[in-house]
Amino acid sequence: MPEAASISGEPAGALCMLELFRGCSRGCRFCQAGIAYRPVRERTEKHLRELSRRLVDSTGYNEMSLTSLSSADYSCLGGLVDDLMEDFQDEKVSFSLPSLRIDSFSIDLAHKMQQVRKSGLTFAPEAGTQRLRDVINKGVTEENLLTAVAAAYRQGWKQVKLYFMMGLPTETDEDIIGIARLAKKVVDLYQEIKGRRGVKVTVSVSCFVPKPFTPFQWFGQVPLEEFERRQRLLKENIRDRSIQFHYHEREVLRKQALEEGKPEKIVEKMVDGRINKYYKEVCLIEQPFIKDPDQTVQNILGDVKVRRFASYQLGEGLEKRSEDFAAEVAAQIK
Ligand code: SF4
Repeated sequence: MPEAASISGEPAGALCMLELFRGCSRGCRFCQAGIAYRPVRERTEKHLRELSRRLVDSTGYNEMSLTSLSSADYSCLGGLVDDLMEDFQDEKVSFSLPSLRIDSFSIDLAHKMQQVRKSGLTFAPEAGTQRLRDVINKGVTEENLLTAVAAAYRQGWKQVKLYFMMGLPTETDEDIIGIARLAKKVVDLYQEIKGRRGVKVTVSVSCFVPKPFTPFQWFGQVPLEEFERRQRLLKENIRDRSIQFHYHEREVLRKQALEEGKPEKIVEKMVDGRINKYYKEVCLIEQPFIKDPDQTVQNILGDVKVRRFASYQLGEGLEKRSEDFAAEVAAQIK
C-alpha cells in the first residue's frame, strides 16, 4: 500500500487504506483470493500504527479503511482500533472496516468505530441454505447471522445488506428460495427486538464465476437464461416491502443507461452489449483469441471440450513486479 498519494483539490473527506495483513485463514471454496494469497501474514500492531501516522501525515486524508481480505480476522483488531482511535482523536480521523465477520465481536467493533453515523452494515452469508453454505465451506450458520444482526439492531442499526451468490455448484431452487426466507427472518427480527417495523434489508445477488486454482474451478457456469430464471424465482419469493432486491448486472446496467440519458429503445441493446462484454472478460471460451482478437477461443477450439486451463496475466513472469511482503513482515519481527 502506498504511504503517499497524489492529491488534486481538497483532501478532506478522502479515504486512505491501511492493509492489516495478506491472505485469509477461511477457505471459502469459490474464493480465488483466499487461496492465491496464502499463507496469512500479519503486520504487527506497532508497525500498523507507524504506517497509519505516515499515511495521514502524507495524504491529509481523514478517513481510513482497515483493509484486508477478511479484516475482522486480524488477531489484535480490538486493541489496534482502540489505539488508532486514541492516536488520531485530535485530528478527527475516522476508521472503517470494509467487511465484517458474522459475529457479535464485529458488531461491537463497528459500533465503536461509528459512534454517531450508523450507516448500513453488510454481511455475506453467500448462500440461502445451510446445505449450500456447507458446500461452499462458508462456515456461517443461520444462528450466527441472526445473532449478529440482533446485536446490530440493539446497537441502533436499521439498515442491513446481505450479499449472496447465485449459480453456485449444486444450487437448487430450494437454495434460491432460502435466500428470500433468510432475508425475511432478518426483517422479522427487527420487529421482534424493537417492537416496530422500520428496518431496511437489501439483498444483493451476484453471479458465481468459477475461478482458476479454487476447488470449484472445474464447475461450469450457469447459462444466462438460467440465471435470469433463478433471479425471477427469487424476486417472486421476496414479498416483504422492507426488503430491497438488488440483482443482476442487467437491472443495474439498465438503470445506469437510463440515468446516462440513453433513449429507452436502445437501452436493451446496450445492456446486451455490456453483458456480453462482461462474459467475454470472465468466460474462457468467450474470450478473444490472443493471436487474433477477431476470433473467440471457442472459434479456435471448434468441438474440442475444455477440461483444464490455467490463467496468467499478460506478461506474467516476464515483467510483473512482485512485492516481497513476507520479507517485510520478517524484517519487523527481527
Ligand atoms: S470469501 Fe472472504 S472469508 Fe472467504 S476465503 Fe475469500 S476472502 Fe476469505
